[in-house]
Amino acid sequence: MSKEKEHIGNGVSNRSSQNDGYLPYPKGFATASIHHGQEAELWNSMAVVAPIVMSTTFKQYGPADTKKYEYGRSGNPTREVLEDVLAKLDNATYGLAFASGLGAITAVFGMLKSGDNIIVGDDVYGGTNRLFNRVVANYNIDVTMVDLVDIRNLEKAIKPTTKLIWIETPTNPTLKVIDIKAASVIAKRNNIVLAVDNTFLTPYLQRPLDLGADLVVYSLTKYMNGHSDVIMGSISTSNQDLYEKLKFLQNAMGIVPSPFDCSQVNRSLKTLALRMQQHQRAGMEIAVYLKNHPQVEKVIHPGLECHPQHLLHKQQTSGQSGVFSFYLKGGLEQSKKFLSSLKIFTLAESLGGYESLAELPSVMTHASVPPEQRKVLGISDNLIRLSVGLEDVEDLIADLEQAFRSIK
Ligand SMILES: *Cc1c(COP(=O)(O)O)cnc(C)c1O
Repeated sequence: MSKEKEHIGNGVSNRSSQNDGYLPYPKGFATASIHHGQEAELWNSMAVVAPIVMSTTFKQYGPADTKKYEYGRSGNPTREVLEDVLAKLDNATYGLAFASGLGAITAVFGMLKSGDNIIVGDDVYGGTNRLFNRVVANYNIDVTMVDLVDIRNLEKAIKPTTKLIWIETPTNPTLKVIDIKAASVIAKRNNIVLAVDNTFLTPYLQRPLDLGADLVVYSLTKYMNGHSDVIMGSISTSNQDLYEKLKFLQNAMGIVPSPFDCSQVNRSLKTLALRMQQHQRAGMEIAVYLKNHPQVEKVIHPGLECHPQHLLHKQQTSGQSGVFSFYLKGGLEQSKKFLSSLKIFTLAESLGGYESLAELPSVMTHASVPPEQRKVLGISDNLIRLSVGLEDVEDLIADLEQAFRSIK
């Protein structure tokens, strides 16, 4: 009897990353996020929600004669359900889940060797900046940070040893937009891997692989999970060679998430399309409110026509999330008072959850970026970053208004 046809208990049956599942793949994003690879017929119980398999080890028929899984770090059925749907949402062949966003980035770093060079956008997530400059750099890997808004800087920065280009767009917290397609042309011409951190937009709003990137990386902690209760990361790719290397590193470096957390993220993906639509709508409304506010110096939102790369942003995305920044009229004292006065926006790091957050990058998320670099990037003490959540927009605007009154 073929092992492929056997179903055991409530476990998940044999599946592969390339397997589109039971039913023909549906066209829409929301349909795929709800159904892809998760038809009830795939598991013996016919459960409508994919089962959580917590077991750390799997019985073998005979020594080294396994049905599919051996040990939970190297493969877990619940994790695979999530990895399959993650791949699908980015039009990728393969998906891999990691213990955190930085765990996923660590796996990419694991593909490099001593003597290699990597080019990193100069305005990346603070933790990514810290990982590259304070950890990766200790392994004799040379890290070049470049302003990639002018994509010609990328070409100029390339060395014979360059193996990886790392970009984030829009950037954090100054929302600079980088041309993914142009970067991919340069990367391909020089035989360099292009990785795009797509945490801010999710595949609902931007698909870097379709624009020519080799790897798309996420902190699932943010919009993808969206409920502020899981730390997790992922990478999707259609390049088999890169997939195999990263899959090896996922196991060899031990950077794996728990099956329970995988199930939580999988649940959250089912509302991703709806959530992103609302984040986008509310974020835009609040950006316009701030733009017209007398106590605001400037709003940075790629959806506004006044944003310097507004047209490029429109070309390569289908919209903007709820994260953006603005400069308050004032200094550190005013920023602190403003943020402490907020009642619905929570003063906290992170972004992308159902709850609205506000923070001061210069002393919070980007405090680990050296002061000289913060100055160059425009991360001053009056730059406030918002992550607009799913509350009623009128309540959020009223909250901002009372905070502005408190610093008048
Ligand atoms: C949060 C974040 C990360 C790191 O992810 P963790 O899940 O916190 O490890 C990486 N990139 C971006 C853009 C992020 O916002």
